[in-house]
Amino acid sequence: MELKVIDGESEARRPTKPPVDAAALRHQQLLEGDFWRRIPSYANVDEATFLDHRWQMKHSITKVPKLLSTLEGMVAHSFVEDAAEGFRLAPMAVRVSPYLLSLIDWSNPYEDPLRRQFIPLGSTRLAEHPKLRFDSLSEQADSPVPGLTHRYPDKALFLALDTCPVYCRFCTRSYAVGPDVEQEELEKVSLKANKERWEDVFTYVASRPELEDIVISGGDSFNLRADQISEIGNRLLDIPNVRRMRFATKGPAVMPQKILSDDAWFSALVGVVQRGREMAKDVVLHTHFNHPNELTAITKRAMDRLFSAGVTVRNQSVLQRGVNDDVETMQQLVRRLGYCNVQPYYVYVHDMVKGVEELRTTVDTAVALEKNVRGVTAGFNTPVFVVDAPGGGGKRDCHSFEYYDRITGVSVYTAPSVKAGRFFLYFDPIHLLPEAGQVRWMDPAEHNKILQEALDKAHARNR
Ligand SMILES: *Cc1c(COP(=O)(O)O)cnc(C)c1O
Ligand code: SF4
Repeated sequence: MELKVIDGESEARRPTKPPVDAAALRHQQLLEGDFWRRIPSYANVDEATFLDHRWQMKHSITKVPKLLSTLEGMVAHSFVEDAAEGFRLAPMAVRVSPYLLSLIDWSNPYEDPLRRQFIPLGSTRLAEHPKLRFDSLSEQADSPVPGLTHRYPDKALFLALDTCPVYCRFCTRSYAVGPDVEQEELEKVSLKANKERWEDVFTYVASRPELEDIVISGGDSFNLRADQISEIGNRLLDIPNVRRMRFATKGPAVMPQKILSDDAWFSALVGVVQRGREMAKDVVLHTHFNHPNELTAITKRAMDRLFSAGVTVRNQSVLQRGVNDDVETMQQLVRRLGYCNVQPYYVYVHDMVKGVEELRTTVDTAVALEKNVRGVTAGFNTPVFVVDAPGGGGKRDCHSFEYYDRITGVSVYTAPSVKAGRFFLYFDPIHLLPEAGQVRWMDPAEHNKILQEALDKAHARNR
């Protein structure tokens, strides 16, 4: 065999990989200890209390003045005012857990990746993209019964309730999720946990033999009671055509304590998973970590408990500017998730959601990140980077555009297996475009031309 010679030495004679110092394996170094005591309001909270999910629930902050008064003293007053203005304009209500607040670096709140996701600021706000709509994924248009989106051939999305253990600024479902906010024009769609509505969903699912896969989301499965987890889980398992189910929840990222201390909820979930297994049906948990700082030693314990009980956990992240849009952070996130037995499944290019334009990135950013993430770990722990095509095309591999104009930021996707013959457009945020693109978007008379050009090019390629 012929060996390639590097630096005068044959590769066979020396190890090609120098050993890595354990200290460099940052993804394994999870935050431990009583980190919450850094927050003055929690300085006297002991570990047993902090690990109790009831305490976390009870002390979650749901009023802006309360949040701001908790921050007072830790941050400059100008920051508090900035946040107050941010909330006044935001489409989402506030809800943060003490755990989440404790993970934010309050000495640098402007840059902190968790602050960016949950606490809006007036000063960083950007104008919306002119092509943005409230329900950008058209989930309501694909709903045969309220709270069920049947878009793909064999799977459907069941929005069982409209509350969450936290409220994320960037929520795709701000059209329905969370209490109404100050902005009066945003009347939300009601998707309360309601038995009659659920019955209509079960009836529909049972009437469709092609439906094998149900995503139970909301809102958030963390906020379903134990008996509701059992009810929904077992009712769906009893439908012969249902083969797969996932409970979707952001809970593990914002309140892992519940997995460790809410034994009724934990047992209800494990009960459905085990019954599913006996019936040869797959029931898993899908969660939503966006940044490595969201996984602590407490998270690891919670994920270990799920893993030991036979519950598969997968993760879906949202790509956000200043949160996880750099190579180092995304690599760390993927490695840390794998280390905690959570399988990275998707990274979503940020949906075109109202009020968070500064959090969106470009399709180009997603393409570049994917290139750098693929190869760092097992392929089955490598997420697929997707664009959920606005207008209801569903999730598309971000690389699979028919056409992408990096000047105007318009990408065009097709979805032959979902909505054949149609084109779906995604729009990069204007402030990240080259000057020439920004200038064109400034002129409303150009908008239709920009779209038409992109569609013509996509057509030409698609012939
Ligand atoms: C994401 C989604 C699903 C599940 O899709 P997967 O690619 O299997 O994760 C199902 N229905 C709707 C409407 C969705 O948005
Ligand atoms: S937990 Fe999920 S559904 Fe709830 S606000 Fe956050 S992103 Fe939206």
